[in-house]
Amino acid sequence: MPKRRTKRGADRTSITGDVDVLICGASFAGLAVARELAGTGARVLMVDRYEIGERQTSACGIPTEWLRAMGLMGSHRQTFGRLVVHTPYGTARLELPWTFSTFDYPELCSLLAEQSDAEFETAKVSGRSGNTVHTDRGDLTARVVVDALGWRRLLGSGYQPPDAPLSRGLEVHPWGAGEEMEIWIDRRYVPAGYGWSFPAGDELRIGVGSFDPRFHVKDTTVQLAEDLKREPVRYQGNWIPHRLRVATEDGVFFVGDSAGHCLPLTAEGIRTALYFGIACGRELRAVVDGQATIASALARYGDFSASHEWKFRAMLAAQRAVPRVPPRVLAGALRGMRTKGFVDWSFGHYLAIAPPEFATAAPRAPRRAALRAAA
Ligand SMILES: Cc1cc2nc3c(=O)[nH]c(=O)nc-3n(C[C@H](O)[C@H](O)[C@H](O)COP(=O)(O)OP(=O)(O)OC[C@H]3O[C@@H](n4cnc5c(N)ncnc54)[C@H](O)[C@@H]3O)c2cc1C
Repeated sequence: MPKRRTKRGADRTSITGDVDVLICGASFAGLAVARELAGTGARVLMVDRYEIGERQTSACGIPTEWLRAMGLMGSHRQTFGRLVVHTPYGTARLELPWTFSTFDYPELCSLLAEQSDAEFETAKVSGRSGNTVHTDRGDLTARVVVDALGWRRLLGSGYQPPDAPLSRGLEVHPWGAGEEMEIWIDRRYVPAGYGWSFPAGDELRIGVGSFDPRFHVKDTTVQLAEDLKREPVRYQGNWIPHRLRVATEDGVFFVGDSAGHCLPLTAEGIRTALYFGIACGRELRAVVDGQATIASALARYGDFSASHEWKFRAMLAAQRAVPRVPPRVLAGALRGMRTKGFVDWSFGHYLAIAPPEFATAAPRAPRRAALRAAA
């Protein structure tokens, strides 16, 4: 269990008050929004039930260029130039056109937090009435409310497993070293989904993700760890949304898993949480700078997120198709896909869903209509 540093007892004073922007959730999505608001002079408050970086929620794998583009290489642990895919009928080694890296979660969160000037408080959010957010430390009112609370989408129309479009993932973190980023598409571990082993310096992140929320992954996570002769220790897991949802609802901005921004098939949700967090933060920056109205920011951010829908739908179609392919055929198909041309093309398109250049690109200019409305 991670050490709980969250304020308790007498330290847990009331935090009622008014702010310009209230960001609920201080993981990838929330921290990315806050970062874009740095230097605006707006009063930005972030709340999370845990201290920043306290509770790791993933295997922490990301395209290396995203770490570089956001100035987060200080949290880097290990880089991989290829993906090793195991099936019961053979192993394919795919030489990637770009590299993937693992990072340290507390370090990355702390680096991101340093790039923002938002205030932070630990508080558990329980709900919302209009622009007032209820927490266990009091009510907070804000001009703008952001839900970066993860898959529950607590400030909008939430989700309830196991009937919602959610995957589930669980992993263990044994100490040890490894060279390869490996995945297993093998029904011994999960009928629909995959197992993984991501080395991260002095530890391995070994886990199983199931696209079917009813399939319990605990036993097979242990089995995969034991097959790899590693100890199944230091567990962490969560639900993972696999369907894009509307990114604005009732005046609230939803970012990251709360908007279903995690990619289906691969369950890669960190770079997309950063990507959409930056997009949301840029729209909010225009609001606090007086260049746009909240209504136009909601419309623009909502449209931006929705413009990615066909890509998310294509990934979801692949997520549904892969488990239906007979294992022998899948092994043959993977062998065929190893060609440089195919890997470059497919992984190039995959990266382009949320490209790293977005992090360093100049913010989009506000629409003329928004500028007129703000005048
Ligand atoms: C086992 C596993 C492995 C994964 N591995 C990868 C990977 O290697 N690469 C990748 O790209 N993606 C991975 N993912 C997916 C990825 O973790 C998510 O898509 C990503 O964390 C989404 O970021 P987020 O900021 O939207 O939400 P989260 O990271 O879930 O953050 C939500 C934040 O809100 C806080 N919060 C929640 N409820 C409350 C409340 N009521 N009050 C106050 N605070 C609250 C939480 O404490 C948390 O800090 C993995 C997921 C799982 C389950």
